[in-house]
Amino acid sequence: MTSSLQDNFIKKESLYGAQNYSPLSVVLEKGEGAYLWDVDGNKYLDMVSAYSAVSHGHSHPELIKTLHDQSSKLAITSRAFYTEPFANFLEKLSNISNFESVLTMNTGAEAVETAIKAARRWGYFSKGIPEDDAEIIVADGNFHGRTTTIVSFSSDLSYKEGFGPFTPGFETADYCGSCECGPIDNCLSIKSFEKKINENTCAILVEPIQGEAGIRVPSEGWLKELRELCTAKNILMILDEIQSGLGRTGKLFAYQHENIIPDGLILGKALGGALLPISAFLSSKDVMQHFKPGSHGSTFGGNPLASKVAAKAIDLLFEEKLIENSEKMGNYFLSKLRQINSKVIKEVRGKGLWIGMELNTSDVNAKDLCLMLLNEGLLCKETHKTVIRFAPPLMISKDDLDWAIDKITKVLRSI
Ligand SMILES: *Cc1c(COP(=O)(O)O)cnc(C)c1O
Repeated sequence: MTSSLQDNFIKKESLYGAQNYSPLSVVLEKGEGAYLWDVDGNKYLDMVSAYSAVSHGHSHPELIKTLHDQSSKLAITSRAFYTEPFANFLEKLSNISNFESVLTMNTGAEAVETAIKAARRWGYFSKGIPEDDAEIIVADGNFHGRTTTIVSFSSDLSYKEGFGPFTPGFETADYCGSCECGPIDNCLSIKSFEKKINENTCAILVEPIQGEAGIRVPSEGWLKELRELCTAKNILMILDEIQSGLGRTGKLFAYQHENIIPDGLILGKALGGALLPISAFLSSKDVMQHFKPGSHGSTFGGNPLASKVAAKAIDLLFEEKLIENSEKMGNYFLSKLRQINSKVIKEVRGKGLWIGMELNTSDVNAKDLCLMLLNEGLLCKETHKTVIRFAPPLMISKDDLDWAIDKITKVLRSI
């Protein structure tokens, strides 16, 4: 039950705001570490982390100090001029990722758009594809953002309905992770990518683990097969790690679980240290050379304030061992969730602190379960009505997880 104070804000939002979300009925006021408080002072453990944008925890003191210091010095300049924070951020991101070149934007969707533009130019200017014929192959169940071009190749009708006409130049292949094709050399997903490739294919764009689709984890070896396919056919392999990157899966990047290197990498969300939007497309100089002055840009992209905060966020990722904690706590959390004996659970899967619990929806729907967890002090978000996603901040402690596991167990047993 919400209080009249909360009802007031909920009503106001529905009255004045577009109804493009349906939030859980809780009005938040404050965050600290892995915890959030509502306007009535009730405390919750955050298992959503703003869709994995909050890795360092809410209101990290050092990030806030960086934000304050830089904002009182220089915040926004546009790219018409050089700044020190931007230069240092580029160097840092390039060094930790081993990608030669970085192009910064603000939101994830903009970085995906940047990757698409880069792939197309590389296709025309390096590979020799005839102008306007380039094709990019994406995966069924993908989520790459909400622009008109990106929803053009979404397989989710609710993202597309009434938003056409759509951008051409995209083909959809089957993702691995829902099929039961056994050993990877028989993988039907790889075969379906292979089938879509022709001389005009410039790139394959996929998520190493599909988050919005319900934490779909592909079979071991899948990314490697895809890498080999791209290399053999002279196609760029571009990974959208906006959600999976920067430690979420227990490695700095999810592709490191498979010891491969993609040709292009897209980052966002947690890059902004849970304070600001900043995103990036990373690639080789060979790919990035095709962006000439004037060919692409963004007013706020690479601004000194976001650059300074992002550089600090990267430092803290290592200093505070958030990646190791994600791996350790993720393994612990996954094993504990798998031990819960409940007929409601169909499957628990994930990597690092990115876990999906698929439900037998004849027993309960995922949103109702989220409401029950909310009443126990746990903020969770369902995806596709059947999966509850657990993605706490990467700094979460074992004690906090134990507390969460107790609550989750209690709620599941009560059904
Ligand atoms: C969130 C997300 C995006 C879109 O990022 P926005 O900042 O919301 O535009 C793209 N790809 C993936 C995998 C995401 O999780």
